[in-house]
Amino acid sequence: MGDVDDHAVVIGAGVAGVLTARALARRFRRVTVVERDALPDQGPAFRPGVPQSPQIHAFWKHGVDCAEHLLPGLTQELTDHGACRLIVPRDFLWLSPVGWFPRVSGAADLTCSRVLLDWVLRRMAGADERIEFLPESHVTGLVARSGGVHGVRLRSAGSGEPLSAGLVVDASGRRSEAAKWLAELGYPAPTVERYDAGFGYSSRYYKLPDSARRDWKAIYIQTSPSMPRGGVLVPVEGGRWMATLLGCGEHIPPTKDDQFLDYARSLRSPVLYEALKGAEPLSDAQGYRNTANEWRHYESLKRWPSGFVVLGDALCRFNPVYGQGMTVAAMSAKAIADAIDGMDPARIHSSSQRLQRAAAAQSANAWGLATGEDLRFPWTEGKPPGAMVKALHQYMSHVVAAGNVDDATCRTIFQVFGMTAPPTALFKPSAVARVMARWRTPTAAPSTAPAPPSTRT
Ligand SMILES: Cc1cc2nc3c(=O)[nH]c(=O)nc-3n(C[C@H](O)[C@H](O)[C@H](O)COP(=O)(O)OP(=O)(O)OC[C@H]3O[C@@H](n4cnc5c(N)ncnc54)[C@H](O)[C@@H]3O)c2cc1C
Repeated sequence: MGDVDDHAVVIGAGVAGVLTARALARRFRRVTVVERDALPDQGPAFRPGVPQSPQIHAFWKHGVDCAEHLLPGLTQELTDHGACRLIVPRDFLWLSPVGWFPRVSGAADLTCSRVLLDWVLRRMAGADERIEFLPESHVTGLVARSGGVHGVRLRSAGSGEPLSAGLVVDASGRRSEAAKWLAELGYPAPTVERYDAGFGYSSRYYKLPDSARRDWKAIYIQTSPSMPRGGVLVPVEGGRWMATLLGCGEHIPPTKDDQFLDYARSLRSPVLYEALKGAEPLSDAQGYRNTANEWRHYESLKRWPSGFVVLGDALCRFNPVYGQGMTVAAMSAKAIADAIDGMDPARIHSSSQRLQRAAAAQSANAWGLATGEDLRFPWTEGKPPGAMVKALHQYMSHVVAAGNVDDATCRTIFQVFGMTAPPTALFKPSAVARVMARWRTPTAAPSTAPAPPSTRT
């Protein structure tokens, strides 16, 4: 094994970090997850390193399955703690920009608070004796020698001594300093692609009155360029509901409690307002604004140090409106697990560029979808859409309009959203034929509540 340590370091105890720790524990004798925050172990709790956690966090089943592969029993553990399984859009009242989706089974989703998810992930991974969490320790740089990364520098409540490692994985989220750390070692900056539609969120927990008449389990009023304000309501653990308002520009949702309902009333359909008006707020409204898509293309750098990988939001983050970030993080962790299967730490150390590319490849489909949709908003900052993207917008508008009246098209749309099918599924001859057969001019959606649910699957 030469001078390569059989200890790995993961920076950040978020979704990407914890799942990657489990992937690495298959091949490294020890894995240390270094986290700048204190880590609450008594139960789910907010921590400043994950400031987005008071907002809605729905986990597509494909991501849950990748996470389950690394942490068997995760789904059961989450549902035992009250996480809710939803079938999308069957269990929803879901208003697309041009109409209501039929209540068919497209994709599955798990909803719970982000703090519960983080706590369960950490608790389960912590039961693995090869994995150790090092809280209140801030990674400040990389330790390098002979063209490779061999550890991290720390600012810590503990000894603060550097940690040596055969592999360092940066999963420190959107505020990652990996580009700066690499520059200190003489590596060039990655190309950064960025698209920002300027979305803001505001979320609040509610208790809904019991209702035997309620024939839905969740609501989603999507935004559109002509009406860039929307809202979501999903059940979470503890019998609570999370209501999230989202919008951009002058439509940024309010964080003042007394304006929350007024904004809900202003959406394209009254269904969300109707659901909330008699409900009991259980928390204040909390806002969040930093929602740009940003991909730091480390995988394209020609020169890359051995022993270092960047993944999760630190590599690529998405406008959260499409609910993709945690699923891509889980897919990347699984891709790392698959790629290092059968390798010893020395080979893993020297394969870091291949691992970097494997992790980055997991972002491609989600990136195309999120940035493509965001470019419909004319104010989106970033490279303006070319002829190809504009043509795709036109086709996709017709796909959504067809999906409002055709069960099979609707199902495929949600399989693509949920990442169980690639976007190309919407371009197969059979899919195109269904769209063509239902070609109609997409118009503004009716605001009235949709037809009662069926049991269609
Ligand atoms: C408003 C909003 C809503 C979202 N909704 C959804 C959704 O519905 N579905 C979905 O799938 N995704 C959603 N996301 C995306 C999701 O939050 C991220 O994709 C996901 O958290 C990425 O996980 P991560 O582990 O890469 O980063 P994070 O979860 O951000 O974790 C990074 C960790 O690194 C730690 N850290 C940072 N720097 C250091 C350092 N130098 N040293 C040590 N530790 C460090 C931080 O404290 C933190 O614990 C949403 C995001 C936002 C902003």
